[in-house]
Amino acid sequence: MLKIENLTATVGDDAKQIINGLTLEVPAGEVHAIMGPNGAGKSTLSYVLTGRSGYEVTGGTATLNGEDLLGMDPEERAAKGMFLSFQYPVEIPGVPVMTFVRTAMNSQRKLRGEDEISAPDFIKKSREIAKKLKLDAEMLKRPVNVGFSGGEKKRLEIYQMMMLDPSFLILDETDSGLDIDALKTVAEGVNAMRSPERGMLVITHYQRLLDYIKPDKVHVLAAGRIVKTGGPDLAHRLEAEGYDGILGEAV
Ligand code: ADP
Ligand code: MG
Ligand code: MG
Repeated sequence: MLKIENLTATVGDDAKQIINGLTLEVPAGEVHAIMGPNGAGKSTLSYVLTGRSGYEVTGGTATLNGEDLLGMDPEERAAKGMFLSFQYPVEIPGVPVMTFVRTAMNSQRKLRGEDEISAPDFIKKSREIAKKLKLDAEMLKRPVNVGFSGGEKKRLEIYQMMMLDPSFLILDETDSGLDIDALKTVAEGVNAMRSPERGMLVITHYQRLLDYIKPDKVHVLAAGRIVKTGGPDLAHRLEAEGYDGILGEAV
């Protein structure tokens, strides 16, 4: 599904190389975790995959379902089903959550050549998902992220994710700063979105999220490339031994 081969990418005005020959494959239906020390390039990878400006690919390939991702603009990638969660959710004063999500849904549909979702269909879908997430309908009328608690922001993000129904999900340290209840909410949302057609990449600095989201594989990213791949046990080893031992082995 997602296939990255020998990817290199630079960041910023001084074109510092952050991604250094990264190769990774996530088949449809699987959840893979990426762990790694601070500054390894985890967030950079997620930005390169979603096409954020300021990040330049200098070599290698990345495809989603066989289609070249790197040649598409960010909106096209989103329309193809790439979804990146935010480490730090942005506030959008004046724009209600529902309006924001409906606009995003419709712009993606338009790019795919589909009709806009009708108001009744949108409301029906929104109600179903809000019910599943135990979200108060009143919350969905409030401006995006303004005045929401950390846990509420996460639930709203999962609401957005479920509404948009992406085919590939990237969660970048979506667990940072969350208490255990919010962490479980995130995990339940992610687990509910597991499906044979959908792939997921869960980027996390800590093992604890992976107690709730059981990954099929765990990759260690260091200095801009994947240096080790294993099963869920690898995450426990990293927690117990730190990155140094495992990175020493990998070299
Ligand atoms: P991680 O998410 O693994 O902690 P990042 O991808 O955020 O790491 O950062 C990788 C490296 O790239 C760091 O050394 C960081 O300082 C650098 N970096 C990230 N963004 C920029 C930028 N816009 N300009 C210059 N350097 C950057
Ligand atoms: Mg970091
Ligand atoms: Mg990061």
